[in-house]
Amino acid sequence: MPASGSRVSKSLKRIGLFVALSLAMNGSVGTVVLAQESGRASDQPSFIRDAEIENYLHALADPIYRAADITPSSITINIVESNVVNAFVADGMNEFFYTGLLQLTDTPEQLAGVIAHETGHIAGGHLIRSREEMRNASAEAIFGMIIAVAAGAASGNGGAAAGAMSGSEQIAERSFLSFSRTVEASADAAGMSFLDRAGITSRGMLEFFKKLQGQELMPTSQQDAYVRTHPLTRDRIDAVQDHLDHSKYKDAKLDEKFYVMHERMKAKLMGYLQPETVLLRYTDNDKRLSTRYARAIALYRTSQADHALTVTDGLIKEEPDNPYFHELKGQILFENGRTEQSIDSYKKANDLLPHSALLREAYGHALLESKDNDKLDAAVEQLQEANRLEERTPIVWHLLASAWGRKAELTKKTEFEAMATYALAEEAEAQGKDRAAQQLAERAMKGLPKGSVYWLRAQDIKLSTTSDSASDKDKKQFSGGKPLSDANH
Ligand SMILES: [Zn+2]
Repeated sequence: MPASGSRVSKSLKRIGLFVALSLAMNGSVGTVVLAQESGRASDQPSFIRDAEIENYLHALADPIYRAADITPSSITINIVESNVVNAFVADGMNEFFYTGLLQLTDTPEQLAGVIAHETGHIAGGHLIRSREEMRNASAEAIFGMIIAVAAGAASGNGGAAAGAMSGSEQIAERSFLSFSRTVEASADAAGMSFLDRAGITSRGMLEFFKKLQGQELMPTSQQDAYVRTHPLTRDRIDAVQDHLDHSKYKDAKLDEKFYVMHERMKAKLMGYLQPETVLLRYTDNDKRLSTRYARAIALYRTSQADHALTVTDGLIKEEPDNPYFHELKGQILFENGRTEQSIDSYKKANDLLPHSALLREAYGHALLESKDNDKLDAAVEQLQEANRLEERTPIVWHLLASAWGRKAELTKKTEFEAMATYALAEEAEAQGKDRAAQQLAERAMKGLPKGSVYWLRAQDIKLSTTSDSASDKDKKQFSGGKPLSDANH
């Protein structure tokens, strides 16, 4: 489990869908508690953020997006922690992959097949339509809205959305995320043409469909979500087979590096999500790198930090320039209270991979947790860089609020307190909590120099949310109505 209390796990990080803002709003800003994750109810799906896996998914998907005339950077890839096998696209540019699906794919070609199919949905406009509420919201908030709205609509009672959210994944899929067989076939066809254009074989798509094919005959309750929401038919499989037989990329193979990345993704997911299984199945005698990677993570996840560090040091020795191994070492150290040492590891990881918002965030967080107040400015610098690389990440704003709150305490300058309040306004906005964002922005403006950068940005937040202030759009109070229904065909 990710560390609780005042720490937030770093590499492969879970993000609860509902973050208690009340903490930050009621308490004094200087003592903001970094306990975002502990508010998560156990049955709510959560997101995983991981630089390595996200980079792999983009490396695999970007040529497919380009083949579909979609700018890769416009698509946000989100990883949902759930053993449900599913993937879907929402709000136009947010793609959601469940870890259950990622773990079920054997090869990068199979995963490319899934990505191509989903890209077919994007290109065909078969989308869960964007709502105004989603426009400024983070992917977490969007995902939460989809689940909430779907649950409310399925129960025939929009007001029930909040109450019905627990365990509502299946209802959500069926009422909102599933497409007709015709739409599915057209997404396949588009997907296969993108694969051809990218020079990738459709064999993986065929293999993945065949993997799931047997489930068509099972009772719905036993099927994987992917089968329920993407109805598979003999016709669809025949169409992919026929395309493959005539494609000149029939026997094309992806570059070896994709196989390595795929194997490491699976090792990492298994280490994090099924650590006990990893430790039962593999021993220190197993010399394969991916196995040792899974073991290092599994050991760390089962509180065997010293053993985990030994295995991780072995990995670093073998690949000293692998930023993710240094990141893992930093994470193990950080979460075991060895903050100062973790800073060195995170620095190395960032030197090796300077353009990762997640690594900047982890580094900034470690610097922030240091007892050394002289590291506070460096922490702010790293967190701002994380913000520059990736906008609207609530946790980064939360950490910045904490950093500026501490600056306020140290310097007794009220301007830092106003900056902390402004950062909390950004956090609230990124979470889709517009009313809270507005209140915080208004409060921040009073303490910031009029016309300064942060004052202007606070004003933006205030103005962008004012017109909607009558109705609180927080996702928990989001009512069903006729939302997202364009997803039903
Ligand atoms: Zn589909």
